Amino acid sequence: MSKHVAAIIAIGQAIITNKEYLTELDREIGDADHGINMAKGFEAVIHKLSGLDEDKDVGFVLKTVAMTLISSVGGAAGPLYGTAILRAAVPAAGKFELDAMTVQAMWEAAITGIKERGKASRGEKTMLDALEPALEAFSVGIRDGKRLLDCLNLASMAAQNGVEYTKTIVATKGRASYLGERSLGHQDPGATSSFIMIKALLDFFRS
Ligand code: ADP
Ligand code: MG
Ligand code: MG
Repeated sequence: MSKHVAAIIAIGQAIITNKEYLTELDREIGDADHGINMAKGFEAVIHKLSGLDEDKDVGFVLKTVAMTLISSVGGAAGPLYGTAILRAAVPAAGKFELDAMTVQAMWEAAITGIKERGKASRGEKTMLDALEPALEAFSVGIRDGKRLLDCLNLASMAAQNGVEYTKTIVATKGRASYLGERSLGHQDPGATSSFIMIKALLDFFRS
């Protein structure tokens, strides 16, 4: 199995491990299905990737992941993550190894995709509150000449802080926005799944 396929499987396994946790977070401010949705999607992804030829580049693999998520995950998060990954596939087309600059371009494209699709911005208690500060921290790492793995570590810490930050703000997008002020104090499930995925990627490349 190629390294990039193994990395995605590691992300999928982290989501599946956290299925109950993500679902419980969504029970508080949503409809108690985020973990179920995400685990279902990544089970389909793992199944799909296990049948994929060895010689596929990162762009092709990500396109496959995106299409699988879009077609297997209901709810808001499936199409949003699917769009993000589809966009990230573009700078990764034809590549078998990723450098920090390419990862930065992929991450930027992913966030642009989420914003276009979901019409949300940072501070609305969504996945963007983890993904955007994570990209910023990653970019600071690159600017300072750090290695890819160190940039990813900075990103993971920023995403974790972003998850904590979601507890302090009111949701204005997605299902949690129906609760208004009552969403305060609760952690956003989508920001949490984003952090889990970044952390899983870090752990995969660190091991
Ligand atoms: P649903 O809310 O349809 O049940 P999920 O529970 O799977 O879908 O996903 C909920 C998560 O999706 C939220 O926690 C939030 O992070 C994210 N989300 C919802 N709406 C948006 C949006 N417009 N833009 C970005 N992220 C969003
Ligand atoms: Mg939900
Ligand atoms: Mg739902």
